[in-house]
Amino acid sequence: MPQTPTAALDTTSPDLVESMFESTPTAPPDPVFGLMDLYRQDSRPNKVNLTVGVYQNEAGLTPILDCVKQAEQLLLQREKSKSYLPIDGLARFNSSVAELIYGSQSPVIESSRLAIAQTPGGTGALRIAADLLRRAMGVEAIWVCQPTWANHTQIFIASQLQIKNYQYVNQSGNGIEFEGLVAQLQNARPREAILLHTVCHNPTGFDFSDSQWDIVLQIIRERNLIPIFDFAYQGFHRNLDDDATPIRSHCAAGGEAIVCNSFSKNLGLYGERVGSISVVTAAASSIPAVQSQLKSIIRTIYSTPPQHGGAIAETVFGDPDLRAMWLKELDGMRERIAAVRTQFVAQMRKATSKRDFQFIAEQIGMFSFSGLDAQQAIRLRKEFAIYIVESGRINVAGINAGNLVQICSAIADVL
Ligand code: PMP
Repeated sequence: MPQTPTAALDTTSPDLVESMFESTPTAPPDPVFGLMDLYRQDSRPNKVNLTVGVYQNEAGLTPILDCVKQAEQLLLQREKSKSYLPIDGLARFNSSVAELIYGSQSPVIESSRLAIAQTPGGTGALRIAADLLRRAMGVEAIWVCQPTWANHTQIFIASQLQIKNYQYVNQSGNGIEFEGLVAQLQNARPREAILLHTVCHNPTGFDFSDSQWDIVLQIIRERNLIPIFDFAYQGFHRNLDDDATPIRSHCAAGGEAIVCNSFSKNLGLYGERVGSISVVTAAASSIPAVQSQLKSIIRTIYSTPPQHGGAIAETVFGDPDLRAMWLKELDGMRERIAAVRTQFVAQMRKATSKRDFQFIAEQIGMFSFSGLDAQQAIRLRKEFAIYIVESGRINVAGINAGNLVQICSAIADVL
């Protein structure tokens, strides 16, 4: 009897099965989430977590905002279905988000020059932006500030974009290297992309001044570059409107843009994964094609966005009382972080005269570049149970009255 190929194969002996996974290399741990794992395993009672970028209140907790809790209660009564959302998400969410970013009287919205889609957080938006640039627009390279949020580079590389770095921080680490940065951007080629942190630069806390923004955005328009505004901290510097100024002024000057926003921080919806990608084009006639590309990219990655977080956000934005409550809670987070910065500087002055930390009070947002190096960060972790990222980035929101003295005296020790 002729043997079929399957009959010839003896699948009973495990020795003969060659594992397809045996040669899989181990991927490096994420620099921030990897530290979080170490933190969780640390049994020291006085451990302090200043790593991952989540807001913490005075009690060291990351609370659910009251406006979110109340919106969830409304949803419990109102929600009728858990069926799929459209590929580009909830329509009312998208129109509210467009107004939050571009302004309620925005010419961009009024002239229908905006494509937008709800995304799973700012990360989801960035990945869609990267695919849009590479696959739909044929962009080859993206300029990324150095340093930046560690995930940026990986996301763009995953979409096959070439990374070109521009130096953002000066040599002493206490401000922006503006002249050098401008000189570098003059080398950018037309149709290259450039990543910009709209407000609250992560990890440094150094933002462009208004006049520096004017210069950078003018270069972008003159050199025909496409800006990707990462907008993960709207409302964490001044307020929702003022923090959007770079985006709005660029659009008002006729610029095209991609904006990736996130409600992880300003609505505290981290784990619900809520954000958006929006694209501003010079002509309204480009919008149907761009919107179709956004949907096509989304369909192949996660098909449709998750409903719950978007529904919460939409409920808060659309209800005047919940919206007012949100703005107050956002003010509270921002004011606490500013107060902690001042307290930290004062306590460092008491703890040591070796270094002046005044620059920490002047930085903006949740993060600070502390100026501590990797060795000092490791010592803080091993000897004092204080966890900071090895780049020296500190999540200022993790500091409170209960740990301020411990943190400052440990830093004085490792300096
Ligand atoms: N961009 C920056 C600069 C961030 O700091 C973060 C979050 N740490 C994100 C994007 C991603 O936000 P999300 O958690 O909403 O994906």
